[in-house]
Amino acid sequence: MKFGGSSLKDPATLMEIADIIRKNSFSQRVVVLSAVQGVTNRLIEATDRALENESSIPASVDGIRAVHEPLVRSAVPEGALRSETNARIEELVERLKKLLKGVSYTGEATQRTRDHILSLGERMSAHLMSGCLSGLGVEAKAVESDTIGLVAHGPFGQGTVDIARSRKPVSRALQALFHEGVLPCVTGFFGETEDGQPITFGRGGTDYSAAVIADALEAERLEVWKDVDGFLTGSPECVANPQLLGSLSYDEAAELSYFGAKILHPRTVEPLLDRRIPIVIRNTFRPEAVGTWIGPERNVREGIVKSVTFSRNVGMLRLHGPDVGYAVGLLSRLVSELSGLGINIRSVMTSQTCINILLDRDELQKAYRHLRAQAAEGIDAFEPVEKTGLVAIVGEGLDTAEGLVARVIQALSRVNVHAEMIVAGASKVAAYFLVDEEKLKRAVVSVHEAFFPRPDESVSER
Ligand code: ASP
Ligand code: MG
Repeated sequence: MKFGGSSLKDPATLMEIADIIRKNSFSQRVVVLSAVQGVTNRLIEATDRALENESSIPASVDGIRAVHEPLVRSAVPEGALRSETNARIEELVERLKKLLKGVSYTGEATQRTRDHILSLGERMSAHLMSGCLSGLGVEAKAVESDTIGLVAHGPFGQGTVDIARSRKPVSRALQALFHEGVLPCVTGFFGETEDGQPITFGRGGTDYSAAVIADALEAERLEVWKDVDGFLTGSPECVANPQLLGSLSYDEAAELSYFGAKILHPRTVEPLLDRRIPIVIRNTFRPEAVGTWIGPERNVREGIVKSVTFSRNVGMLRLHGPDVGYAVGLLSRLVSELSGLGINIRSVMTSQTCINILLDRDELQKAYRHLRAQAAEGIDAFEPVEKTGLVAIVGEGLDTAEGLVARVIQALSRVNVHAEMIVAGASKVAAYFLVDEEKLKRAVVSVHEAFFPRPDESVSER
């Protein structure tokens, strides 16, 4: 059972999830937790401030303490349990203080140090939750995920778990707790490197941690608890009448997450594929609701498309040159320049006179400046395009269905939106295109309506 920041925010919600955990009828369960809402951001700010100014440290540290204090006070009963919980959190606060002092003293915050600092948020919430559950009579224990053999590699800040290596030790450690009748409250978001350093999995990485743990335990299912019922046919931010999706295939959920739905981390699916462990999205605030079920079954819906999603977090870098299409090795040079900066490329499209690289919006300028300085040969002009948005349609069967792209284009032309870079076939279940950011909402609404007509309209169309 994974709980994120949206479920860890105030005393009432904390008691809500403790109750959900307590009532869950599985005899063996593991709780995987993110940091309390806002704490990860605070830790990042604390580090940046410590770099600039040592005198910022006490206030940062007090701020972190002040977030947890009222939660402990209201969720953990007074007495030995509360003192114990406070002591554990205070140890972590002390560790934070030392790490921040180190940052300020050395004048540098490597990603390795940042990962250590960031891991503290999850550790605090694991102790908070185990205190809270113990207070309710559930025997629980906080488990810090760099002590159970959850080994990861890759750059700090973007770790990937070594699944083959971690399975056994993780399962052994947690099984041992089950045998003692203890419910493990495990920290999400990080594991340890080969040499024992905490390493994080990227923002929102607790979903991924939970999937890795579910796999190690061959769990019957992974429950991801959110503040919504599940995946919808469209984002309520744009669409007036989205419907809840009862089930999705792994690929559909992964693509929807990759293209902007903010329900799951896109990496959550991968660790679960091998053992075909399903994910269930549940709503902390409506525990009785049946959320979205995600599993290996590939159901094709009659209208094919199951959901229309979008993202504003994209930017396009256009590289113009008369012969870029034929320049052997150019693309590989560009890709390695960008990967050297740690920039992830989301998509590439080329023609004879232009290479289009789709990136995360916040990395666009960095990529632009770097490539302009480094890779000018054969390229006449570098054009960063910020004001762009991506719309994706997702559904099993998209790869073989006829006329879907035509329907999308029709829907867009109805509202005078011009689409660029229409990509169908990048995956079997997804197609996407770019539009001017200002027209993004309009585009989403119209495409959603084309596939999910409102009852009154479908009547008038007939
Ligand atoms: N606390 C981390 C973050 O905010 C990890 C997570 O929430 O999953 O990114
Ligand atoms: Mg979080």
